[in-house]
Formats: sequence, C-alpha cells, structure tokens
Amino acid sequence: MDKVELYYGTENGKSGIGIKIHSQEANVDDLLQAWQPLCDDSGLFKLYAASNYSECKGCSVNCCNTAYVIPDLISFRKMARHLNLEYSDFIDRFFQKEKLELGLLRMRPNPCIFLKENICSIYALRSLICRFYICSYILGDTEQLIYSIAWTGITATQLFAEAKGLLHINSEAGSSSFDLLFKKLINDYRDHPGVALFMNAREYKDIPLSVFKL
Ligand code: SF4
Ligand code: SF4
Repeated sequence: MDKVELYYGTENGKSGIGIKIHSQEANVDDLLQAWQPLCDDSGLFKLYAASNYSECKGCSVNCCNTAYVIPDLISFRKMARHLNLEYSDFIDRFFQKEKLELGLLRMRPNPCIFLKENICSIYALRSLICRFYICSYILGDTEQLIYSIAWTGITATQLFAEAKGLLHINSEAGSSSFDLLFKKLINDYRDHPGVALFMNAREYKDIPLSVFKL
C-alpha cells in the first residue's frame, strides 16, 4: 500500500478530493507524488479549466497568469541553483519589486515570470503552492493540511531571506488585502515546528508529514 493515498469523499453535499496517510514514515514527497496525477487528470472537474475538464499542462485559462506565488524554501533554493544565480540576484530579477518593498517575496506576476507559452518553464522545481493548487473542491481536512505545509515552507523562505539580509522593507503603505493576509499567515506560521525542518531540508522527502495535522 502507498504511504499516501487519494480518495474522493463528500462533505456538505459536495464531492471532493481527500488524502489518507497510511504510514508514520510518510513525507512531503510521498504526498506530492500522490497529488500530481490530479494535475494531469483530464477527467477531473476543474472549475476554471476549458469546459471544466483538462490537464493543467497547457491550460488555456491558466491560474499562472494571475497567481500570487511566494515559493517555499526548497523550491526557492532549487530555482536559484537552476538559474545559477546568487540569492540576491535571483530576488532582484525574478521577484516583484513593489512586494519586496513591503517585505514579501512574490514572484513576478501577470503572468508568472516562469510561464512560457502557457507552460511552466520550471515545472519540476515549482513551489508547493503551485503544486497543490488545483481548481477542484478539496475536503476541509486535506485543504488545511496542504496549505499548512505550503505556508510553513513559505515562512521558512521568509525567515531565510530575513536572516541573510535579502529583504529591504521600505514601507508597509499600499499593502493590498492579499499582502496583509499573507503577512499574517507568515507570522502565524513562524513558530510551527515544520519551519525548522524546511530550513534544514534539501528535498521534500526530508520533511515528515507527521509534523502536520490531518
Ligand atoms: S488549476 Fe490552474 S492550470 Fe489547472 S485547470 Fe485550474 S486554472 Fe487551469
Ligand atoms: S512557477 Fe510555474 S506553476 Fe507556478 S505560477 Fe509560475 S508558471 Fe505557474
């Protein structure tokens, strides 16, 4: 039996996707491997997909056109290494200047700087928030789990950037409601035990799922 398994259940009269964790040894990579087929599934109802059914790859609507992506630390490090850039140069060239001045590491949007001809050009390195987003209904406990993993990883990026002196906050004036929400989430997750795991991890398999509650 796989350590992590998808299932389809019903909640509040809606059917949705859930996960079951079968092993105490399961890690974030096991979850990602179980989750990936959802992106590739053209038989799954996807709210924003063309005619509601398509693979995410090459999706003509494409959430990457408008996504607000702050990468988790594993993805952040891998992207910088892939581009052969120092972290400071990576941030200067690939992150949105206005958000950096607010202290937020948002990748350049509208469309995402890595979107080329409707395809993600760094797909294997994309961040957790990108991997987990799927415009289908997700059962509540599972949604809470995947977003707590993603926000823990994002908070690790924030703490890493602060520790390295990579953020130069000018002013908080002009923050949007999303900016304020994301800052609050980052603050809420600062003391989560998973943050230290992300700080020390190189791969998603280094992070056990047991530190997150399902
Ligand atoms: S999750 Fe994004 S890429 Fe996938 S179908 Fe929905 S809008 Fe398209
Ligand atoms: S990194 Fe890739 S998957 Fe994520 S928003 Fe950008 S193009 Fe889309």
